[in-house]
Amino acid sequence: MLRTEGIVLNEMRFKETSKILNIYTKRFGRINVMARGAYRPRSKLIAHTQSFSYSEYEFYRGRSFYYINEASVVESFYDIREKIERVICGFYILELINNSTPEEEQNERIFLLLEKSLRTLAGLNMDFLKFIIAFELKYISFLGYRPHIESCVYCGNKDILNARFSISGGGLICSNCFHMDNRTKNMDRDMWKGMYELLYIPLDKLSHICISRDSLIKIQSILEDYILYSIDRKELNSLNLLKSIFN
Ligand SMILES: [Zn+2]
Repeated sequence: MLRTEGIVLNEMRFKETSKILNIYTKRFGRINVMARGAYRPRSKLIAHTQSFSYSEYEFYRGRSFYYINEASVVESFYDIREKIERVICGFYILELINNSTPEEEQNERIFLLLEKSLRTLAGLNMDFLKFIIAFELKYISFLGYRPHIESCVYCGNKDILNARFSISGGGLICSNCFHMDNRTKNMDRDMWKGMYELLYIPLDKLSHICISRDSLIKIQSILEDYILYSIDRKELNSLNLLKSIFN
């Protein structure tokens, strides 16, 4: 028996009454779980097999899946479902993690970020765009792709007044190096400052900083491209919905 906390990233119906889940666990990273009978009306698994459910699980391991032996709820994050912006941001976070983490590779920092993000989101009433950007910057950093924004990624030049953002380089590119990279996006001082602040601020302190909406939208557009490029995806289903609430 393997005990660990975990958060359900997605659920898929399997046959009549079962579900196949992806759960991000604290001890084993992302795992595939078969929840047999989870659709039966009085199943004890209902509360532990829905997206956003955060439970303490006891698993046993089968050939292709983990199976739930026992579970107890840590947090249902029910409040996320009470506001459409929270739901959309929440599903984006789950989908992003589900599509960019290797199977069965423990990364406790990602688990803790996921938990903290859902906790913050459950009480969030404004600043959704700021929240998503702060989440993305931290998440992508934990995956090993922290944007390099202190100097030019190509030459180290610290004069970044006229720099742009290089998607493939993963950071600022100075005007001397523009010719080396044709996939760059516009960046200005306010965006730089916003990105820097949101990279380091705790998720529950977002109201302490002020960034113009215009800069936030432009930063998000850079991060969308940068994240998809880094995780090698063309698209994420929840991204279009996410864009619709920010426009
Ligand atoms: Zn340079």
